[in-house]
Amino acid sequence: MEISRIAVVGGSIGGLTTALLLRDAGFEVDVYERSTKPLSGFGTGIVVQPELVKYLVERTDTELDAISVPSSTMRYTDAHTGDELGTIDAAWRFTSYDGIYRRLHEVFGSERYHLGKTVVGIGQSADHVDLRFADGTDAGADFVVAADGGSSVIRQRLIGRKSDYAGYVTWRGLVSPGAIDQSTWDYFDDAFTYGLLSDGHLIAYPIPPRDGEEGRRLNFQWYWNVPDGAQLDELMTDCNGIRLPTSVHAHQLCVRQRKTLDTRADELTQPFAELVHAAENAFVTIVSDADVEATVYGRIALLGDAAITPRPHAAAGAAKAANDAWTLADALSSEPGHRVESLAEWERTQLAVGRAYLAKVRQMAGRLQTGGDFPPGEPAFRFGLPKIGEPVSAGQP
Ligand code: FAD
Repeated sequence: MEISRIAVVGGSIGGLTTALLLRDAGFEVDVYERSTKPLSGFGTGIVVQPELVKYLVERTDTELDAISVPSSTMRYTDAHTGDELGTIDAAWRFTSYDGIYRRLHEVFGSERYHLGKTVVGIGQSADHVDLRFADGTDAGADFVVAADGGSSVIRQRLIGRKSDYAGYVTWRGLVSPGAIDQSTWDYFDDAFTYGLLSDGHLIAYPIPPRDGEEGRRLNFQWYWNVPDGAQLDELMTDCNGIRLPTSVHAHQLCVRQRKTLDTRADELTQPFAELVHAAENAFVTIVSDADVEATVYGRIALLGDAAITPRPHAAAGAAKAANDAWTLADALSSEPGHRVESLAEWERTQLAVGRAYLAKVRQMAGRLQTGGDFPPGEPAFRFGLPKIGEPVSAGQP
């Protein structure tokens, strides 16, 4: 398979990591991103996994300390009663979506990062792929990488697969120093904290400051079970009455939605309640997932969330996308005569990793969203991508 020009659809973590690696490998690479402006300013925290930062650490002068903060423990608390359920030593680092995205975008540059390009159609022949955009333009390439996320338009066009609602949503928020009591700040600083509930759970951990600021911020996620149908529709309807498909961002939330968040937070134990009340720009996102049978379709490859869409609980969704990028770049760097074979091998490994990860996070959700057994330090629930062949079950599901 002859390839010199590659189009990457979606310019988030998966797309940018892929584009950088393929450009380094000597391909001509263009990124087509739906958003009309760079994606900084959205998103909250991300747990650092080696795959996520591998490009920045190995191929740029980025220091891990400049883009992440460390912590030393994981704490498990009953978020209703405040009972401490256990603490383990666990040295994780945390970064922010913004920090990673901004740095990857900066390294790739803006010349071939095309904003405002929403792919609506795709077609291919034996030696070419065509992309059609919502603005009426089109572009061609020898190969296309679909890194267009969990609601991938390319996955839908190729195989009609949308992601499935997982039965719960997540509220996310950020808290700046000074917005909460020092004792509450100290409680959440230096730890990854689980707040377990009978019908959902919270997580909280520190992340780096905004660009140009000092210190740390705190971020939390609170997962609520919400049945599909009227209740979900009401929660996901913005202040203009529009039912949004994935997220209702802070500026789109109605007063009633924020009030519901604050009222429910009143029932949490003090540190969690204070954290949620103090959150700037809290927003709500649907949790969904998807599996696929194949990720290579001729000259098109699905990558990251556009391939297998996981849920967030093992903190490695972005690492999975980055890992897909590294392994795909290796496969495409093989001799033209071996590329079809290399891509088939890439697909096998990618699917094995993705499916094992999906099984792991579904199992975690089965415990975390129902008040099930979630023992401190349970090895099967350790963050990160599973090694192929690693068992995913921990006792009875
Ligand atoms: P995504 O990160 O979902 O990226 C998909 C990209 O494709 C997006 O940039 C999207 O705008 C673009 N796109 C979608 N459809 C089209 C189309 N038709 N044409 C062109 N482009 C298209 N995860 C966390 O753990 N914590 C966070 O705080 C966090 N914040 C995020 C903020 C933003 C703005 C985004 C987009 C994602 C965020 N995520 C966050 C999700 C996380 O990045 C992904 O789950 C994971 O990294 C996999 O990345 P991905 O590149 O495969 O998919």
